Amino acid sequence: MNESILLIEDEADLRSVLSVRLRAEGYVVDSACDGAEGFDKVTTQPFDLIILDIMLPNRSGLDICRDLRQAGFATPILFLSARHQTNDKVLALKLGGDDYVTKPFKAAELLARIEVLLRRVPIRMGHGVHQFGSIRVDLRRAEATRDEKPLYLSAREFQLLRYLIEHAGNTVSRVELLRSVWGYDSATLTRTVDMHVACLREKLEENPRHPALIITVPGVGYRFAGSKDLP
Ligand code: CA
Repeated sequence: MNESILLIEDEADLRSVLSVRLRAEGYVVDSACDGAEGFDKVTTQPFDLIILDIMLPNRSGLDICRDLRQAGFATPILFLSARHQTNDKVLALKLGGDDYVTKPFKAAELLARIEVLLRRVPIRMGHGVHQFGSIRVDLRRAEATRDEKPLYLSAREFQLLRYLIEHAGNTVSRVELLRSVWGYDSATLTRTVDMHVACLREKLEENPRHPALIITVPGVGYRFAGSKDLP
């Protein structure tokens, strides 16, 4: 079955051009022209991916993303924005966005990123609840909290965290993470891993500059240093 994409974008021209292009690539495309309509569609219909503009009437893209993640929706979110500020990008990823494209962009770049986000990774339910200091991770329910408040992890960040936890104490290479978490077989994308590890550290570590949970193994990859203390 073709994958379905919801495009939430208030610029009519861009919405129409992108919809045509995405349909030409074989995707089933639905669209919404403001934040309220977009949020309504996401919460009432299933989509495989959401393309989400940041500056929207009625509800900003950032608010939509935060509310969706808070409500437990794990659908991959690719942000679009005319803004260049690093702050927006960091905030978008912190709130649970999966990727970010700045306007103007080439259709080919957007399509490549969509493909990476939609790449089928076998979803395997994990087992058990793990507690690392104030961080609690429930693998079965795909939930992470700090001091009982939800951490807004994207679907990919959660998969990455689960893989690291399940291999706690072992060093895992970037290439292994790319293959196992992203389903990707290319060593040229290892920066993707580093970027997601950086986001995870921002959310999980007491001091992201001196990580105590996700340790860098120079020249190789990463090692999860929290112990699996709850069965
Ligand atoms: Ca806009």
